Amino acid sequence: MKGLIMDYPLTTNTILEYGNSVYHHKKIITHLPDGTRHEYSFGDMYKRCKKLANALTQKLGIKNGDMVGTFAWNHGPHVELYYGISGIGAVCHTINIRLSSHQIEYIINNSEDKVIFVDATLVPLLEKIAPLLETVEHFVLINAAQDFTTTLPNTLHYEDLIADQSDHFEWPAINENDASGLCYTSGTTGLPKGVLYSHRSTFLHATTIMSPNAGNFSNRDTVLLIVPQFHVMAWGFPYLCLLSGSNMVLPSSNLQPEAIIKILIEEKVNKANGVPTIWLGVYHALKMNPPKEKLALEEYLVGGSALTKSLIQGFEKDFGIKGVQAWGMTETSPLGTVSRLQPLHDSLSEDEKITIRAKQGTAFPGVELRIVTDDGKVAPTDGKTMGELQIKGAWTISSYFKTNNHESFTEDGWFKTGDVSTIDQDGYMEIKDRTKDLIKSGGEWISSVALESALMAHPKIKEAAVIAIPDEKWVEKPLASIVLLNSDDTVSDEELIDFLSREFVKYQIPKDYVYINEVPKTSVGKFDKKEIRRLFAEGKLT
Ligand code: AMP
Repeated sequence: MKGLIMDYPLTTNTILEYGNSVYHHKKIITHLPDGTRHEYSFGDMYKRCKKLANALTQKLGIKNGDMVGTFAWNHGPHVELYYGISGIGAVCHTINIRLSSHQIEYIINNSEDKVIFVDATLVPLLEKIAPLLETVEHFVLINAAQDFTTTLPNTLHYEDLIADQSDHFEWPAINENDASGLCYTSGTTGLPKGVLYSHRSTFLHATTIMSPNAGNFSNRDTVLLIVPQFHVMAWGFPYLCLLSGSNMVLPSSNLQPEAIIKILIEEKVNKANGVPTIWLGVYHALKMNPPKEKLALEEYLVGGSALTKSLIQGFEKDFGIKGVQAWGMTETSPLGTVSRLQPLHDSLSEDEKITIRAKQGTAFPGVELRIVTDDGKVAPTDGKTMGELQIKGAWTISSYFKTNNHESFTEDGWFKTGDVSTIDQDGYMEIKDRTKDLIKSGGEWISSVALESALMAHPKIKEAAVIAIPDEKWVEKPLASIVLLNSDDTVSDEELIDFLSREFVKYQIPKDYVYINEVPKTSVGKFDKKEIRRLFAEGKLT
């Protein structure tokens, strides 16, 4: 028997309409790269979304199901694009500006973006590949001066595009299971893979993250969205802020610790998000230059890489600011778990409490987790048995976009995360390792396999194995162990860095090299990364 409840669509339009009707007075504040500050209300933003919707449909001919790319930092217009594009039934494809030119070109062609909205400061990155983009009909420049010059073809200015449009627009009926957003992950082997979010998954993810046991956001908060809007829809924050009525503060490219601290102070920000590298930088900058008054910041939500016990302790002891760890993936919208204490932990010592908070945490309602051991069995929740973390849920991927990646899913419908974890008796998950042959540095992926093939194409190199090693600032960084073809040869680190810079962007290139006689191998002749990591940890990798 079916329930007798309205079939009410959970769409991004539902979020936008709600934000406008209840919280039209709430603020969106952007700090632009030139130091200027821009402030407007949810109500103003709502009207501009409608103007954008008219421009997209009338001027640019965008239709239901079309892909529209964004190549931009965090700012008001980028929030408008999230709502305006999905609102007309098109798909908002946020392109990661930090990927290599080759990856960006691949992503744009693979998704078939028709229009790309690009920040003026990022235009040079697209100019290099523009002739190779097969489907893009227009580039729309954001925050560009009128006399801005570019070699990009068919350019328009964002403000001109929406200026003479009506702020009335009737949203089309959208099925909540239709696609609203697209984001590519490079955290898998091979080429980046697209993750296509639905309106429903976006809505459910945002409402859940807002709740007190999860992100704990309300209409009394002012939230700094540090996670770039080109990373997994900024963890859903542009949506949850409209639902919770939290003021939104957007830093654009002002991501240096000093710039973040200035924004935190000026805007009296009390909640924020970001990867550990950002918070490590902010912590050290605050230690070097302690603020005159206590910051309004109460809590920062961290994910992307592990938030360490020492950072949680440091922030809390020195500045009274609480770090909250979350775990997730592009494939899981992203948030899957959060680590918060419960009354059952009240009697524990401070150290035991921090140990729990340094775990990746418990699943959100709407998400299920399990650990599967190497022999294919579901592990007990004893906090000890390690295995691959698998996930199911209302905002977990069911298939990659245009790719049949059966190996990423189990036969009984779970997504294989590639993380190696434990789950304890209270459901707290802890990441121990990763099966993915990748390095996560400062929140961005580096493919060790891609570096190895590039290095092994060097005329003097026989074998190259790349592993992740710990780094205080970037959490992880790549280390390349090199076997030379001819033991009499020499090659310098600088020569290899220069060689790799033809193919890789700066942050992806290893700065650390060791020259060895042979790469340790497994019984089937593969590079034994575990053994290389052990040798490194014991100081024997020389
Ligand atoms: P991405 O899809 O780029 O967001 O990367 C997802 C991956 O980042 C996960 O599968 C983990 O390997 C890693 N990750 C995310 N959050 C955490 C966390 N809190 N602690 C440790 N690793 C994390």
